[in-house]
Amino acid sequence: MVIVMRQDATGEQVAHLVEKLKEKGLTAHISRGTERTIVGAIGDERVLQAVPLQAFPGVEQVMQILQPFRLVSREFRKDDSIVNVGGVKIGGGHFALIAGPCSVENWETLIETANAVKAAGANLLRGGAFKPRTSPYAFQGLGEEGLKLLAQARQETGLPVVTEVMNTSQVDLVAKYADMLQIGARNMQNFDLLKAVGDVRKPVLLKRGMASHVKEWLMSAEYILSRGNYDVVLCERGIRTFETYTRNTLDLAGMAAARELSHLPVVVDPSHATGKRSLIPPMSYAAMAGGADGLTIEVHPRPEEAFSDGDQSLLPKDFSELCQELKRFAEVCRKTW
Ligand code: PEP
Ligand code: MN
Repeated sequence: MVIVMRQDATGEQVAHLVEKLKEKGLTAHISRGTERTIVGAIGDERVLQAVPLQAFPGVEQVMQILQPFRLVSREFRKDDSIVNVGGVKIGGGHFALIAGPCSVENWETLIETANAVKAAGANLLRGGAFKPRTSPYAFQGLGEEGLKLLAQARQETGLPVVTEVMNTSQVDLVAKYADMLQIGARNMQNFDLLKAVGDVRKPVLLKRGMASHVKEWLMSAEYILSRGNYDVVLCERGIRTFETYTRNTLDLAGMAAARELSHLPVVVDPSHATGKRSLIPPMSYAAMAGGADGLTIEVHPRPEEAFSDGDQSLLPKDFSELCQELKRFAEVCRKTW
């Protein structure tokens, strides 16, 4: 059971309701968002049958939600959520084109890439400062220096920035510089990290774990919403299958299923999903046609020199061509950006 409090509900009204739930032997889970407070009643809800919760002062709506991911589900909110990232809207027909290098390497390459993706039509800049690498000997990212470069690139281009946070101790630091916090595939079930970004009032890009079911991915999003942060965008980035030709297998049905089950926007990452530059355009078109709310694409001006993921990075001119095509398709796909 989810009880949505009115926007003007007082702390006393919330406490009164919580008291009643406790009296009935239930546990109350309170999530305080910027706009309203939501109270989840946890336990055997049959004891509430005779309690007129709707009549409690401050209560706006009482909802019976069957899915375990309550706040994330379409049962909780029928309409698409729109997440605002530094002034850029994602979801509800607003298409996000997130682009940039895999890693922030140095100022010159970053600003060259940022200017190029902006000119092509990207509306958000991506780049990793903290990198989750398979090998401890591989480039691990510039850390705070990389975050500073991203903030500087935002100042020069006006593009809000998206960057990964790898552990709880980095959350405040990354939130200080970034407009959107990325939770990488490897951390999708790092529950302490999910709670920590749930406590921050910054949008989160939650990538799907490479071995996670759609419903597990949605449960991870629920962790963030349950702490009061409703600004979550899901990202399908491919899952592990028996196929080895591509780096991962892009699960477009999973993307569409997530959009069906949840009101949250879902974007697609064809770069990590395929690992191959040539496959990025076809998968981007397919994602847009399938209803995705955006794309996140790696771009590098000299992929052969990239510190990470050069094979799957588009050249700026190829990215620009891709954007031209996507713009032609956008109208029939009912997307704007
Ligand atoms: C990335 O976006 O650079 C990244 C590391 O992605 P993933 O977590 O999906 O592997
Ligand atoms: Mn990458």
